[in-house]
Amino acid sequence: PLPPRLFFEAVEQSPVAISITNAQAIILYANAAFEALTGYARAEVIGENESILSSNATPASVYQALWRTIKQKQTWTGTLVNRTKAGGDYLAELAISPVLDQDGAICYFLGIHRDVTRVH
Ligand code: FAD
Repeated sequence: PLPPRLFFEAVEQSPVAISITNAQAIILYANAAFEALTGYARAEVIGENESILSSNATPASVYQALWRTIKQKQTWTGTLVNRTKAGGDYLAELAISPVLDQDGAICYFLGIHRDVTRVH
């Protein structure tokens, strides 16, 4: 069997920013690429809502569609305007997917995001 450590190290060292939240979007884990992209050390974001990254430039209707999708246990993909700790805005291409427990209830959300500012 594959050791759990393998999954941890693969996520930890992934070049893509990855965070795991509880069902209320409170950050439980962030990898090294998340720290590099956002400028926040993980100790600063763990316990905070993912909205800490919001630049307030994203319309509420986008967040409503996001939450409607993920609460239906589906993956939401889209682009949000995020702000780094230093105050720089960047376009974040996000995929947010639910992680279900054995009863099929949402227990976590997995967030993967990359800076697509230069692509657009
Ligand atoms: P709010 O006023 O709190 O929310 C705006 C609208 O979103 C509300 O009117 C409501 O319709 C909906 N909403 C918010 N929270 C909930 C909830 N718990 N249940 C149901 N509906 C809700 N946001 C970013 O801006 N950037 C990110 O990179 C980002 N990454 C995320 C990653 C993950 C894994 C998850 C789960 C969420 C992520 N979010 C991200 C969304 C974030 O959690 C906030 O919902 C969003 O930033 C809006 O927060 P707000 O305080 O500006 O607005």
